[in-house]
Amino acid sequence: MKFGGTSMATPDRIRRVAALIAAEAAAGKKLAVVVSAMAGKTNELVAWADVLGPSAQGVGSVDDEADVVVASGEQVTSGLLAIALRSQGLRARSWMGWQIPILTDDSHGRARIVDIPGEKLGAAIDTGEIAIVPGFQGVTSDGRITTLGRGGSDTSAVAVAAALKAACDIYTDVDGVYTTDPRIEPKARRMPKISYEEMLEMASLGAKVLQTRSVELAMAHRVPVRVLSSFVETLAGPDEGTLICDEDEIVEKRIVSGVAMSRDEAKITLFGVPDRIGVTADVFMRLADAKLNIDMIVQSNARQADRTNLIFTVGRRDAAAAEKLMRDAQDAIGFEEIRVDQDVCKVSVVGVGMKSHAGVARTMFEALAEKGISLQAISTSEIKISVLIHQDYAELAVRALHGAYGLDAAA
Ligand code: ASP
Ligand code: MG
Repeated sequence: MKFGGTSMATPDRIRRVAALIAAEAAAGKKLAVVVSAMAGKTNELVAWADVLGPSAQGVGSVDDEADVVVASGEQVTSGLLAIALRSQGLRARSWMGWQIPILTDDSHGRARIVDIPGEKLGAAIDTGEIAIVPGFQGVTSDGRITTLGRGGSDTSAVAVAAALKAACDIYTDVDGVYTTDPRIEPKARRMPKISYEEMLEMASLGAKVLQTRSVELAMAHRVPVRVLSSFVETLAGPDEGTLICDEDEIVEKRIVSGVAMSRDEAKITLFGVPDRIGVTADVFMRLADAKLNIDMIVQSNARQADRTNLIFTVGRRDAAAAEKLMRDAQDAIGFEEIRVDQDVCKVSVVGVGMKSHAGVARTMFEALAEKGISLQAISTSEIKISVLIHQDYAELAVRALHGAYGLDAAA
């Protein structure tokens, strides 16, 4: 079981979480519980660390010490939950990342889990003791504390489940994964099941239910993950929440399962790039060396025969860095002009059914054309089509596509 920050926000809520855990234990389950810090706590700790030092890599870096600070939020909630469980007469103990251990690499602030030897934890759980594990934190092979990046407790939960060969229930603010954001389209429906592949696309395309890395991990280790509401008094029934599982386990398959939208986009256009072999490689080598993550790419011939236009998108936070990098290299690359557009958003449709059905793109483009929305870039994968559009049309596009693919809930 994993509980997010809202569920752990106050002693009173922690007591309610303990009651849910007690009910699960009474049903005869052996349990490991992963917890987030109290809601808002991580932001507060990050801010404190920022006040005192720059959180940059390199000389004078304080990232390893920042991890010591921010990982403490989860240590507090782990201890508090163990106390609450014991006071309800249950056997429970906390296991810090270094005690299990949850071994990670040393990329402080965004560490990746390398290994979780499950033996000690598993043996304790087998005796009937409930194990409480702080999410978000790990330890390097040198014994230094690391954190897994924002939202990382989801990844901790899936990783612990994988190590114990268990299923993973993630209790969160929403009662499942929806066909699209219900705040944008009230006709959105909760999906009873979604495949790992689809969830991975949805998560990386901006559906903020789970950290993307946690879905990757669940897919790699075939961990069944259920997303459930934490605002409940009793244990969830089998029909509640959303099960993230293997595609084969989903009987009712749709061509398109969901519509995702992300405003965290910026479009960079290089006009008049010399059309010679190696120039595209040169551009993206520079961006990669600066660790800038590129998403969509469009290259097209310009009017002049020996020039092309190159469009790519980056996260909004990276736009200024990418622009500077390109301007500094303008002579070396040889493009004529650069433009940066921040007022764009990406809207995507996702579905495993696309692999074997024709006409999915046509439905998308028709629905958007009907609303007068122009497309600035398009990208596809086997199970997704994304378009970049003006951000003013974000909501309109989401609703149009939700309807066009028959996802609207019956009135
Ligand atoms: N507390 C951490 C965060 O806010 C980790 C998590 O809750 O997933 O990012
Ligand atoms: Mg979260």
